[in-house]
Amino acid sequence: MSTSPDALPSSAPATTPVPVEGAPRLRVAPSPTGDPHVGTAYMALFNLAYARQQGGQFLLRIEDTDRARFNASSEQQLYDTLSWLGLTWDEGPDVGGPFAPYRQSERLDTYRPYVERLLADGHAYHCWCSSERLAEMRDKQQKLKQPTGYDRLCHGKTQEERAQLPGYSETPVVRMFIPEDAPIVFDDVIRGKVTAPRPDDQVILKADGFPTYHLAVVVDDHEMGVTHVVRGEEWISSTPKHVLLYQWLGLTPPAFAHMPLLRNTDKSKISKRKNPAARLTWFQEQGYLPEALVNFLALLAYPPMTAEDGSDREKFTFAEFSEHFAWSKVNPVGPIFDLKKLDWLNGLYLRDLELGDFTSRLLPFLEREGVLSGNPTLGELGRLKDVAELIQTRIALLSEAPALVKPFYVADGDLVIDEDARAQLKENAGEVLDAAITALEGIDKGTGSLPPNDGDFKAATIEARLREAIVEGLGIKPRLAFGPLRTAVSGARISPPLFESMEILGKDSTLARLRRLRAEI
Ligand code: GLU
Repeated sequence: MSTSPDALPSSAPATTPVPVEGAPRLRVAPSPTGDPHVGTAYMALFNLAYARQQGGQFLLRIEDTDRARFNASSEQQLYDTLSWLGLTWDEGPDVGGPFAPYRQSERLDTYRPYVERLLADGHAYHCWCSSERLAEMRDKQQKLKQPTGYDRLCHGKTQEERAQLPGYSETPVVRMFIPEDAPIVFDDVIRGKVTAPRPDDQVILKADGFPTYHLAVVVDDHEMGVTHVVRGEEWISSTPKHVLLYQWLGLTPPAFAHMPLLRNTDKSKISKRKNPAARLTWFQEQGYLPEALVNFLALLAYPPMTAEDGSDREKFTFAEFSEHFAWSKVNPVGPIFDLKKLDWLNGLYLRDLELGDFTSRLLPFLEREGVLSGNPTLGELGRLKDVAELIQTRIALLSEAPALVKPFYVADGDLVIDEDARAQLKENAGEVLDAAITALEGIDKGTGSLPPNDGDFKAATIEARLREAIVEGLGIKPRLAFGPLRTAVSGARISPPLFESMEILGKDSTLARLRRLRAEI
C-alpha cells in the first residue's frame, strides 16, 4: 500500500484484520432501545477506523440493562444496519469471541463481585429510598434552587435503622459514595483536559438486580480488554464516575475520546422522535448508498482528504479514512447534520458505480414499488440495464428510480398518464403526435423488437427523424416539440431521455403509446 498520504482512492474492502499483540481494542456499545440511531453508526465508524489502522480489534457489545426501554427487534436491526454499512465487528453476541457473552443481560453474575467489593470497601452503600421519596426530594431541591442529588439519607444505616424512617422500600439499590474531592478532570484523546461536573451518588445496581450503565460499562470495558472508549460527548459528565470506579477497583482506565454530538441544522441534538434521519433504516429506505453514508458520517467530524493538486477531496473510502486516521484531526465542535451534503455525495457515488452494480442496487427498490418481482426474467433484467444507464446520472437517491423505470415495465395500454403531464399538453399536441407517428412508421425496425436491435430504430435515427418532422416540418421549437411525445411514452413530465427511451421500448411499443395518446386528446 502507498505510504504517501491521500493516495489514490481504494475501493478495496477493508481486509480481514490481523490481530497485533498489544494492539488496541475498541468497541461500540449500543443499547437496543428501538430503531438503531445514526449516532451508533457514526460511533462505530470512528472506533473501527482506528482499530483497523492499528491492527486492533473492534467489538460490538449490547448494553441491554435498561429493561424498561428494551426492544426485542432492535438488536437484529443493529446487526443489519451496521453490516449494511460495512462496519463489521470482530467480536460480538452474534459472532462470539474470547470474552463472550457480549450481551450485558447475560453477564449479571460478572458484575456481582465488583459490587460486593465496592460495598465492602465503603465506596458504595445500599439505599432503600422509595421512588416517591426520591421524587419528593428532587422537587424540593428544585423549588429551593438547590443542586439536585441524593441526600444520603441511607448512608451509614443498616436496613433496620432505615426501615424506621419514611419513604422506605424493601428492595435496595446500591449507590456510589462520591467523595468530596472526587477527581473531575480527565484526559480526552480528542479534547485534551476535560473538566466535568462533580457527580452525584450514582446508582450502580438497580432494585431489579441489573447493574446500571455506569457499573456495567466499567466492568465490561475492563473485562473485555478495551483500551479506548470512544463514545458520544453526552457521556463526558459520566466519565468522572467511571474514573472513580476504575480507581476504587484498582483497574487501569482506558483512554477516553468523546466525539462531538450530531446536531440538527437548528443545533439541537438529533433525536429519533424529531428527525426521521436519526434512524439508520431511514437511509436504507431512501436509497442512500452505504459507502456514501459512511463517507458523510466521517466528514461530520473529520476534515476532507487532500487531493493531488492540494484541494480538498471530500469523497473518500473507509479504507482511506482508516489508513490516514488521526485523533488530532477530529473536530470536537458539534457537526451539523446537513442532508443536502449527503444527497450530493450520494449522487457522486451513484454515478461512479459500475453499471451492473448500479443495476443490482436498483432491484430492491423496484421490487418494493412493484415495478419488478423479486425474481425478474432475463429479458426484464436485460432491459433494466439499458434503462439503468439512462437514469444513472439523473438520480440522487435509489428511491427515485422506480418512477422513472416503471414505464418500461407496463403494457402500453396500462401506462398511467399523470394528470400534470396531460394538463400541460398544448393545442398542437395532436399535430405533433401525428407527425411523430408518421415519421417513426418510416423507420425499419429490423427483424424483431428483442435485442440485438438490428434495425434502424435507434436513438440517433429516431431523433433525426423527429426533428425533421416536428422542428423543421411543423416549425415548432425543440423545447415544445417533444413534450407530448414524452407524455405519451412515459406518462410523466420528467422521464429518462426521450429518444433512448423510445429505442428501449422498441418501435411497436413506442407507436402504440403515441397512437393511444393521440386517440385520447
Ligand atoms: N450504551 C451506551 C450508549 O448507547 C454506550 C455509551 C458508551 O459507549 O460508553 O450510548
